[in-house]
Amino acid sequence: MKNKTVIITGAASGIGKATAELFARHGANVVVSDIQEAEGNATTDSIIAAGGKASFFKTDVAKPEEMEALVAFAVKTYGQLDAAVNNAGIGGEQALIADMSIDGWKKVIDINLNSLFYGMKYQIPAMLKNGGGSIVNISSILGAVGFANSAGYTAAKHGVVGLTQAAALEYSAQKIRINAVAPGFIETPLLDALDAEMKQQLVALHPIGRLGKSEEVAELIFWLSSDKSSFVTGGYYPVDGGYLAR
Ligand code: NAD
Repeated sequence: MKNKTVIITGAASGIGKATAELFARHGANVVVSDIQEAEGNATTDSIIAAGGKASFFKTDVAKPEEMEALVAFAVKTYGQLDAAVNNAGIGGEQALIADMSIDGWKKVIDINLNSLFYGMKYQIPAMLKNGGGSIVNISSILGAVGFANSAGYTAAKHGVVGLTQAAALEYSAQKIRINAVAPGFIETPLLDALDAEMKQQLVALHPIGRLGKSEEVAELIFWLSSDKSSFVTGGYYPVDGGYLAR
């Protein structure tokens, strides 16, 4: 990925931040994007302090015009767009379906699913201009199985898988590979809402005996983005400590 340009959404924290740092260590130009400005700038500063190349661009992924502006920023700053990691997401409202608010449902679908359509809508034309690229969409193990009290999140993450497959069918012949990554439960601020007992219950669902680390997800994202995975497209790849094998 040396001197290749990558956009990473949700790169102020957790999986996105670890992915931004990994790409930077491999010499990529990293466009760090997030709705959180101070934390996004902190990611960028730490990459630059370590000798990497990065720029921050504030983006709300749920706003199509901001996703368009993000792609324009990447191309203007670094000349072209080679890769994108559509990672920003929220846990969403926790409730039974009958109790879930309409706004809560719409919000998680907007941020965790609609945003990936907006992202690809603008990333793909930019990549076609330079003969191809790679897109990694962050789904979840909940893109394959259900989880009570998280119907909106589960529906969005299943949607990400279908969207990824359709996009791969449309653009693989034009050398844009598009894949989905499915993390198990990973120790990030996304899990801050859970108490220690709930986290222990989650650990028990991972045969490997612990929750995952952001860096472990970043390795798979990086591989899927690089030419090492040149025959891989339209796939759904768990990085889940065995969660889906149960
Ligand atoms: P995180 O909370 O550490 O990071 C998510 C980032 O997304 C934050 O920096 C946040 O500011 C940003 N974000 C939220 N809404 C945004 C918006 N509207 N526009 C732009 N940025 C926004 O969480 P994480 O665990 O690193 O999650 C990253 C991705 O991984 C998400 O898509 C999440 O659903 C997925 N995932 C996480 C887990 C887990 O257990 N942590 C498991 C499976 C999938």
